[in-house]
Amino acid sequence: MQATMHNSTREQYYLAMEEKYGAHNYHPLPVVLERGQNVHVWDVEGKRYFDFLSGYSAVNQGHCHPAIIAALIEQAQQLTLTSRAFHSALLGEYAKFITDYFGYHKVLPMNTGVEAVETALKLCRRWGYDVKGIEENKAVIIVCGGNFHGRTSTVISFSSDPSARKGFGPYMEGFKSIPYNDLAALSEALKDKNVAGFLVEPIQGEAGVLVPDEGYLSTAKQYCADANVLFIADEIQTGLSRTGKLLACDHENVRPDILILGKALSGGTLPISAVLADDPIMLTIRPGEHGSTYGGNPLACKVAIAALTVLKDEKMTENAEKMGELLRRRLAELQSPHIKLIRGKGLLNAIVIQHANADAAWDLCLAMKENGILAKPTHGDKIRLAPPLTITAEQIEECVQLIAESLKVLD
Ligand code: PLP
Repeated sequence: MQATMHNSTREQYYLAMEEKYGAHNYHPLPVVLERGQNVHVWDVEGKRYFDFLSGYSAVNQGHCHPAIIAALIEQAQQLTLTSRAFHSALLGEYAKFITDYFGYHKVLPMNTGVEAVETALKLCRRWGYDVKGIEENKAVIIVCGGNFHGRTSTVISFSSDPSARKGFGPYMEGFKSIPYNDLAALSEALKDKNVAGFLVEPIQGEAGVLVPDEGYLSTAKQYCADANVLFIADEIQTGLSRTGKLLACDHENVRPDILILGKALSGGTLPISAVLADDPIMLTIRPGEHGSTYGGNPLACKVAIAALTVLKDEKMTENAEKMGELLRRRLAELQSPHIKLIRGKGLLNAIVIQHANADAAWDLCLAMKENGILAKPTHGDKIRLAPPLTITAEQIEECVQLIAESLKVLD
């Protein structure tokens, strides 16, 4: 190893090792990180960056938030896993805490985001059969074009992204895709009596921070209620203060029938996800019918309580709203010919790049990296700008200058 290190920089060494021994299922920016604190991360050469991706919104509370890490360490020394074969002293406490926090009867704890989506789909189907009375195996769940809900076989079955689907069939049945932000299409699709649920991202994050028209969510919720169909919100990326409200659905005072959370539920420390619903939905699943060895483990419970507590205590929702406005305003003031569009809510934002070169967004991200700010393109020409919610106005000003400097690479 020493010889290898001698012949190349540390960064090249780590990049080569990952390339050789790791599966090639991602295309990361060429930067190797080894430390994070609040809005900053440091690479293996000691260079500091602003993190403008925040682990796809898993690190809303900032890297290594001291209160979350303290909870993690304390609980790690006490008890980490019981499995659900036994009770733990923390699951009930966490369940009460999170259901009070979001105003639901019950929580079903899982680990990754996609597992929580799967859980919501199963719950919805079961509710469709047991409560709504849909004929067995006929339930339909409406989804939206351009969605991103994760990568399992079921979830990619209703993706409209060819790279997520191609070569992974046969696909799961029972999903109907309609265009996003299209109420007429929803109304039409809801005429099918076998529809059990409507699964939607309140803002489509991976699609490039697509913000639907005002009134879309509230009207969609009303249409669902009228059709006796569950409104299922995937707030894995948009939730937990990211968009300047606790939930993105709060912008339209919509209370989802099933709420899906993940990512920042642990502040970036562990895979922790959750599905929240009221008794008539949640109690349709009985012992043995769903679960996970790690779901609701004591370590996760303790960490999630801490992660949710700091969001409120440190007023991260309010800060996300204010800093988001400042970020969008300052970016607009740059009047860059290379920025076609700036959109977002709170600190979930994207710029759409306008350039003859198809790789322009990637090139801009490389230039931003050189200038000390990390972001990544999504769907070619869009760059998500989503720093931790703890960012200050001074730091936003600094970052906009770094972006302005980086944009010169496209001149
Ligand atoms: N749903 C949404 C809206 C997401 O943004 C993501 C991840 O980016 C997921 C689901 C999947 O979460 P995970 O990668 O933790 O499985």
